[in-house]
Parts: sequence; C-alpha cells; structure tokens
Amino acid sequence: MSRPEIATRAHPIRLAVLLAALLTLVAAVLVAGATRTAQAWPAESYCSNNQPPSDASYEALLSAEDVGRALAQIESSSQGRVQVEVAGYSNQGRPIWSARVGEGDTVVLVQSQIHGNEPHGTIALINTLRELGNNSARSQQIREEITFVAIPRLNQDGGEVPRRQNLMSWDDIVALHPQLQGVPANPGAWYHSNSIGGTIGGMDVNRDFNPDLDYEPVASDLPGNSASIGFYLSPEARTVREVYRSLENEFGLVDVFVDLHGQAVCYGHGLSNELVIDVPSTAAGRYQATHANFGPPVTKEGFSGQIVEVSDGSANPTRACQPLVGFPAGAIALVDRGTCTFVQKVTNAQNAGAVAVIIVNDTDAAPTPLTGTAPDITIPSAMISRFDGQRIRAGLPATGTLLDNPDSNFYSPLSISGRFITDPTAHGDWPKFDDVASRKLNVAVYEALQGHGKSPYGKVTAYPQPPSTNIPGTALGSFALRGSAVILFETGGQTQQLGPKQVGMRAKQVEVGLAGILDAYSTGAINDVDPDKYFDIPLRVNSPVQ
Ligand SMILES: [Zn+2]
Repeated sequence: MSRPEIATRAHPIRLAVLLAALLTLVAAVLVAGATRTAQAWPAESYCSNNQPPSDASYEALLSAEDVGRALAQIESSSQGRVQVEVAGYSNQGRPIWSARVGEGDTVVLVQSQIHGNEPHGTIALINTLRELGNNSARSQQIREEITFVAIPRLNQDGGEVPRRQNLMSWDDIVALHPQLQGVPANPGAWYHSNSIGGTIGGMDVNRDFNPDLDYEPVASDLPGNSASIGFYLSPEARTVREVYRSLENEFGLVDVFVDLHGQAVCYGHGLSNELVIDVPSTAAGRYQATHANFGPPVTKEGFSGQIVEVSDGSANPTRACQPLVGFPAGAIALVDRGTCTFVQKVTNAQNAGAVAVIIVNDTDAAPTPLTGTAPDITIPSAMISRFDGQRIRAGLPATGTLLDNPDSNFYSPLSISGRFITDPTAHGDWPKFDDVASRKLNVAVYEALQGHGKSPYGKVTAYPQPPSTNIPGTALGSFALRGSAVILFETGGQTQQLGPKQVGMRAKQVEVGLAGILDAYSTGAINDVDPDKYFDIPLRVNSPVQ
C-alpha cells in the first residue's frame, strides 16, 4: 500500500535517523576492520554496502489506517471467527485495535510495534490473524486449544512519524494524570523526552509498564530509572494493561506474552570461537567462546587436548593467578575469571605447558573478549559463559577442541529472549514468575526456525541477557513477573533501513516463529521442550564480528 504522504511528512526525521545509523555503522566497521563473506549478509541492508538501501521505502509497511482496514477485512472473511474491537486510543486519538480468535484455555497475547519504527511484526501479526481465521484443519485445532489475542501496531502515533516514542508532551501527561500537577517536565519520567527531533516529545512506551496492574502514577515515584518499574503514564501502555487484565480475569493466567520489535540491522551469529567437548563426556557438545586480543588466533583445525581444571594452590585455586600446581603439559586449561588479569592467567597456564586456555565467566553476563597485550603469549585463549563452565566441569574428565566458529560470520536477522529481570524479588512478591516457562517458549520458537536449514531463518540469536538486560518496566518484564511465559522478537532493521524484499523476509520469519508457538501449545509439544536448550541459543554479537 502506497504511502507517499507519510513518507514526505516524515522526511526530516527519517534523514536524521538514517545519518545517525550510517555514522554508527561506519564507525563500527572502522573499529572492527573485519571481513565477511558476501553471501552471508543481506543484499538490501546497510550490512551489505554500508549505505541505506536505495529501495528503502514504506511500500511494504502498514499505516494506522491500513491496519484498521486489514482487520475489518479479516473479521469479515473469517465469518466472525476473528473478532476485532477498539481496545483504546493513542494519545493523538488513533484507535488501538485488538483482535481475538479461538476459544481454547491457553491464552497467547501478542503485540507489535510498541516502538513506532519497528514495523515488521505488524505485518506478521496481520498475516497470522488471517491464517487463524481460515477453515483449515490446523487453524481449527489451534482455535480449539488457544485463545489468541493480538494488538497490532500499538504505537499508532509513533508509527506514523515514524519514530520509536509515542507523541505525548509533558502537558498531555499531566492533563491525563492531574495528581502530577507541579512535577516539572524535566526530569519528568526518565523515559519521557520533551522534544524529539525538534518536534513534539514523547515516551518510550516500552518502559511504561508495571507488574502491579492497579498502579497509578504518584509524583514521588518519578522520575525513576531503567532498573525500576514504569508508571502507566501513556494511553498506549494503559490500553495493553486493560487487555491483559481482562484476559487474566477471564482465564486466571495469560499463559504467553509475545512482544514484536525490530533492532539495528547488523548483528552477527554467535561468538567467534567454540569449544567442542567430545563424547563420552556428559558435557559433550558445542559451547560458544570469545577470542583474545593477544596470542595467536584460533584456527579452523583448532587446539585439542584433555580439559583440566587448574589449581595454583592458593585460596582461589582455579583462578590461575599463581604458578600452576600439577598441571599436565599438553592439556587445555580451564580457569575461572577474577582477581588477576587475563594475561596473567594465560601466562601461568602457558608456563605449565597448556595448549590453550578456557576462561569461565564469573557472572551470568555474556562472555567477553579477553583484553590485554602480551607479545610473549604463544597459546590461544577464549572465554565461555558461567553456565557453560558449570556444565563442562560436571562432565570432566573430558577431551575437547577450541576452534574457530564457522557460523560466526553469518548475519542474524532475528534475536529472541525470555529473560528481562535480574532479581524478580526486587519489585515485590510475584510468586507466579516462571523463568522455566519463558525459556521453554523461547526454545520452541528457536526450534521452529531451525527447521529452515541453512537459510537465514535459522540464524536466530539470543538478545543480551540479565544482568546486562534488567528492564522490569517493559511489558515483557512486568508480565513475566505476573507469571506469563514471555518472548521478545527483535528482527533486524527498522522502518527506514530495509527494502521491500528484506521487509517481507523478516515478517515471514516472525510468522514462522509465531506458528511455532501456536503449534507447540496447541499440540502439547511444549511440555516436552527442554528449557536448558535456551542456553544453547547462540549469543547476538555486534557485527562485523572478530
Ligand atoms: Zn523495540
């Protein structure tokens, strides 16, 4: 559907966003100085040529009016199976639609475009509703098991600009919440800006949530911060709250909550190296590993040996800050992060005859590259996650190989996550919080997309995890605390960054992921999903990698 009028109106902001994104990317390329294989990166994105694609356009995207028209058409063609209503209104008075299909006891609530410039999920959601309303046997079975509720294009105002935030001045906020009279616009709420791109201010609606559905904003709670809960200031977040509340009242629990977003275009697939543990160890498998800025690079053939947990005879013997004791030459040293530098640890292992060093992270954050300079180091080293370190330790004795990860130069067009809260007890008592259910949901989506072989669809990565990502004020964080299994979809690319072919590919990828959820829950297959496979999803990395 053609949208020349909106493209024209949006032009100044669009140009600024384009330039900012371009500068960021050019800087990233200069810093990394990496190479990549041409076919691994999409031809129509910044990643392929460091230029905005010449065909970046709104042609394939849906306007506020388009969504209303599409939903009316689906309601009609589904013969009433899909029921559409106005759930609320945006700050500028545009309708926010909700669409409901199915009569099952399992509730799946999906929203898209809470960030106005992240449009791909809206296309996927409309297509999914159309599919669920038809009379195929599969759709009928899903309708029997699942009640599916969609809120497409939640941020109707931001979507028209397009921009991330809604359109809502501080005066608008005070008019809606008179109890905030006297709170100065600056600092206001931490996620509200008074002016954006020289035009009306607005807020990041995806920080405006709170697990307490009865919460009303209180002046003394403002401005808050990214680690605190939100205030339900915006009509958009309040609309979602009422949809969620009514489903919870009707069913007792909203089983699944899905939030469809779009992130920056260029992310790589997995860390630069991997550690392969051989059978028959119970830890046999592939583990992602970073690289070191010193020592030789990890090769395709790799460095093999027995995996041996080190001891230096000190109070923290596995940190290798002292000369090693009893280490067998020719082995791969397993070392804990902490106390001394990476170079010190690797030097001690090298002096004891190690062929390579694996450092285990000491927090749940993603493993980092090993920094430092050390011209005397002649063995490779890398870091793995704390979780993987625990699994490998439990599987010793074992042999293994540290080698170059052949997948790391692939482009990842989709990242997912089910974890947004570092400490669920920090925000009150939420006994239904269910991390295992969220991990199973994410694994179900991941596995549904792996069915697409070597296509980009399968190159799914894990969005940054807690504690790096601790955002209880998001819809995902707040609804997870209430007991929903949650999943974030972050497709690569926002409104102004992709041509129509790439837009279509991303919408299709989200549809496949949503279908994976519906199939897993309607057939009961979700019960057999292994939640620990969540930790095997490759981590999202900045690109170019290495
Ligand atoms: Zn977003």
